[in-house]
Amino acid sequence: MTSQSHLRRSIISLARRPLLPLATALLLPLALCACGGDGNGGGEDRLRVVATTTQIGDFARRVGGDRIRLTVLLHASQDAHDFEPQASQIRALAEADAVLVNGLGLDAFVDAAVRQSDAKVVTVTQGARTRASSAAADKIDPHVWFDVANAKRMVENIRDALSAADPANASSYEQNAAAYLAELDALDQSVRDAIAAIPQACRKLVTDHEVLGYYAQAYGLEFVGSVVPSTSSEASASAADVAGIVRRIRELGVPAVFAEASGNPDLVRQVGREAGVKVVDGLYGDSLGPPGSDGATYVDMMRSNTAKIVAALRPCGA
Ligand SMILES: [Zn+2]
Repeated sequence: MTSQSHLRRSIISLARRPLLPLATALLLPLALCACGGDGNGGGEDRLRVVATTTQIGDFARRVGGDRIRLTVLLHASQDAHDFEPQASQIRALAEADAVLVNGLGLDAFVDAAVRQSDAKVVTVTQGARTRASSAAADKIDPHVWFDVANAKRMVENIRDALSAADPANASSYEQNAAAYLAELDALDQSVRDAIAAIPQACRKLVTDHEVLGYYAQAYGLEFVGSVVPSTSSEASASAADVAGIVRRIRELGVPAVFAEASGNPDLVRQVGREAGVKVVDGLYGDSLGPPGSDGATYVDMMRSNTAKIVAALRPCGA
């Protein structure tokens, strides 16, 4: 066995360990590049890409495949609004060829780090249809990916950015993106079909923070409000806010309230109790779920959220 295959084998066994420490995970791409070219685009000349959020990371993985070395800053089930990169992640940012960001106020935490590097910063939400926050009309809601049409735009922007930075692999990025965009078209239709099964009068959403405004707008639900009246989970709810949302839930006959996997469900539970409606846990909001969960990828997350929403809202008034 050559030393190279020894190295490959040790990397494979490392990758199979269930609880890979983050520092090791970040070093893994460096170790992989020591394998040299394998005719499959893997090698030390691969494009170094950093994605801020888990959704952008998933899109980049689908478009870049094994032709890029990808680092995703946010972890599964992590709140995006109060994130601070670790020292090792700041190093990855400094060494990146391209940094893929949401750019709508969700990931300003990378600004200082990329300012000191030569990395090209790509705002992948460029051209997405945006909406203002219900709670603050002067703020753009950053959760654009919950409209699949916007997710497609993000994928197209990632495809174009990778192709521009690495023209030799442009046809591969083009093919991967085309296949994934077709999957997203099917996903969009399946969400539409699922929501159509909910009676119109029951299509009313109340979430933890204002995370599903785009979803409501794209798929024909009424966004009644959020327990924390902000597009940032860093905000807090006053007693008057809680009383207000409880009153609206009762007045509008909202069937259920949704807590997020990346947040603390206590306040949502309190609102559910006071309003006398059921509380649905585990909606994927700011981040995807961990590998193996029903929200491990963007497509999984959208399907899982839609299934929970349909199950909770459909029997309203029954
Ligand atoms: Zn959020």
